[in-house]
Amino acid sequence: MKVIKFGGSSLASATQLEKVLNIVKSDSQRRFVVVSAPGKRSPEDTKVTDALIRYYRHYTEGDDVKADQEWIINRYQAMVDELGFKSAVMAKITEAITSLATLPIENNSFLYDTFLAAGEDNNAKLIAEYFRHNGIDARYVHPREAGIIVSSEPGNARILPSSYDKLEELRDSEEVLVIPGFFGVTVDNQICTFSRGGSDISGSIVAAGVKADLYENFTDVDGIFAAHPGVVHRPHSIPELTYKEMRELAYAGFSVLHDEALLPAYRGKVPLVIKNTNNPDHPGTKVILEHSGATVPVVGIAGDDKFVSINMTKYLMNREVGFGRKVLQILEDLNIRWEHIPSGIDDLSIIVRERELTPIKEQEIISYLTRELGVDDVEIEHGLSILMIVGENMKNHIGVTATAARALSDNHINLEMISQGSSEVSVMFVIKTEQEKAAIKAIYHAFFGEENASN
Ligand code: ASP
Repeated sequence: MKVIKFGGSSLASATQLEKVLNIVKSDSQRRFVVVSAPGKRSPEDTKVTDALIRYYRHYTEGDDVKADQEWIINRYQAMVDELGFKSAVMAKITEAITSLATLPIENNSFLYDTFLAAGEDNNAKLIAEYFRHNGIDARYVHPREAGIIVSSEPGNARILPSSYDKLEELRDSEEVLVIPGFFGVTVDNQICTFSRGGSDISGSIVAAGVKADLYENFTDVDGIFAAHPGVVHRPHSIPELTYKEMRELAYAGFSVLHDEALLPAYRGKVPLVIKNTNNPDHPGTKVILEHSGATVPVVGIAGDDKFVSINMTKYLMNREVGFGRKVLQILEDLNIRWEHIPSGIDDLSIIVRERELTPIKEQEIISYLTRELGVDDVEIEHGLSILMIVGENMKNHIGVTATAARALSDNHINLEMISQGSSEVSVMFVIKTEQEKAAIKAIYHAFFGEENASN
C-alpha cells in the first residue's frame, strides 16, 4: 500500500491534474493521496497559499476582500472548466473561501492558519470529486477525521504521537482517500498548519500512520541530484540514498523535501521515493533505511553559504579544564546556535550561521573571550561556505577525503577547515564563499567524472 503526495506544481492546472489522475489510476496500491494547494502555472503566477495570505491581510486590515475571494475561487473554477466536468463541489469551495471573511479577528491565534489551510483543504475536495468523475472510488478526508492531531503552535505545528493510532484505522478503507496536506487540528479543534511547504510532512505522517510500504512524493524534478543543477551542468539524479545521507544533504542546502518531512517516515520505517509528475516513468530517488548492497562511497555533494567562524587560540588550551564549556556558555547566554566545532591543540573554531550573529553579539563574544577567558587571539571570520561530501559507505573506502582535497588543491582552492563526525556519513570542508561553486564542480568531477559537468 502506498501513500502518494503531490506538490503544488503538480496540481497547478488541468493538464497537471490529468497527469495526477493517470499516476493514481496506474497503480491500485496508491490508496492515500495527500495534496498541496494549487501552485504556480508560470513563473509570474501566484500560488494559492500566497493569494490566501494577501486575502488574510486585507481582511484583518479592514480592506475590501472581494477581489481576493474572486481570484481564489476563479483559480479552482478555471481548473474545473478546463477539465470539462460539472462540479457540485465548486459551490462548497465558494462558500468555504467567502466565509473565511466572517471569522473573528480578535483573540484568534489560529485565524492566519485557517486562511492558509483553505488552499489545501479545498483542493483536496476538488481532486476527490475529479477522481470520482473519472472512475476512481475516491473520498475527501479532513485531517480531523483522519486523526492528524497537532500541537497548538500556529504556523509551526508538530504532530502529537497519539495521532498514529487513529491514522492506522484508515488502512481499512476501501476507497482512495484524498487528504489535504499542510495542516492538522489541535485538541481544541483549531486548524493549525505546519511550517511553509509542510504538505510533505503531512504525507510522511500519513505514510507512517497507515504503515505504508512506500511514501511516494511527487514533485517536478527527476529525484535528488548529486549536486546542485545550478552549479554542475546536468548532474545525475541519485538512484538511492539513506535517510541519514538525505538529512546531511538537506542540511547543506538540498531542498527537494521539507526538512521535517523525513522524521515520521524514518521512524515509521517507511521508505520514501521522490518522483517527477511530469516524467513518472523515471525511477526517481529512493530514500531507504539502509543500503542493501555495496554502493558508491559518495552519493552527493552539497554546499551552503552564510557561515561564520569564531576562531580563538590560547596557549595550552588543551590543559585547561572547562574551557570549552565556558565558550559554549557565552553562546548560550546570547541565544546563539552553533553548527560545528573543529579544533586543534591550542585553537578552537565555532562555526555558526550568519543569521545567529549581530554586530553587538560579536562584540560581546570578543570581549568575553578576551577578558574572561584570556584567549591570546580571537577573530570572527565571515563569508564562509561549507561543503558536505556525503555517503554512508565512505567508511568502507580509503581515500575519499584525499580525493576531495586533491580536487580542491588542483583547482587552487584553499581548504580552511575539515570536520568529520564519528558516524562518517559525511566529511565537511569549510572554504571561502567565493570559491564555493568552483569547489563543488571540482569535487563532482573527481567522484563522478567529467561528462556532464561543464557549465
Ligand atoms: N501550500 C503550502 C505552502 O505553499 C504547503 C505546501 O505546498 O506544502 O507553503
